[in-house]
Amino acid sequence: MQIETTGILINMRPFSERDVVAHIFTKDNGVLVGMFRGGAVAKKNRPLVGQMGNVSWNARLDSQLGVFHFESEKNLSAPLLLNPDSLKCMNAAFALIYSLIPEREPNETLYNETIKLLQDLSVSKEPYDAYLNWETSLLKDLGYALDLSKCSGCGKQENLCYLSPKTGRAVCSECGAPYIDKLYRLPLSLNITKRFVSSICDIQGTDMPNVRKIF
Ligand SMILES: [Zn+2]
Repeated sequence: MQIETTGILINMRPFSERDVVAHIFTKDNGVLVGMFRGGAVAKKNRPLVGQMGNVSWNARLDSQLGVFHFESEKNLSAPLLLNPDSLKCMNAAFALIYSLIPEREPNETLYNETIKLLQDLSVSKEPYDAYLNWETSLLKDLGYALDLSKCSGCGKQENLCYLSPKTGRAVCSECGAPYIDKLYRLPLSLNITKRFVSSICDIQGTDMPNVRKIF
């Protein structure tokens, strides 16, 4: 079986002294897992997390750990190296994709959002705003779309002060008044989305990645 597409290298770990196992988030085939033969010792074209390029994945059987051939076109992490906050955001996004997105499930919307995040992180002075947008897309993708457009109680579009942790929908100040202790206070923040991400991790039985715990 062979897959040809484009993708971003989001995770690598040693497999042997010479080889590494990598996760590549692809445009057409979701997250692919495979091996880079000699990836740990290559002197030229060594794979690096954050690279984007053409991916070829080959395996004799569909169920096998395939082998990657990867032609990096650009390193999307390079412009972020001078900005620790941007790097943190990239690492958190990659860790969440690695932990929460099922393998080989096509996910072009999130893929495009991730490319956009990396581009935004390289130019934005507010990397955490760009990251918050991305994480909101991730939640939507996982079936937890947040609706901040109107009050879930009365339909009003003004004074939306709260967010319900149960429904992910906004609540106005009047409807929310009796339940203040149980509601999150808007505006939306990384602290709020973190709680949704954490409950998804619980449901999926995975740990919240350490790189996301810190903000
Ligand atoms: Zn209301």
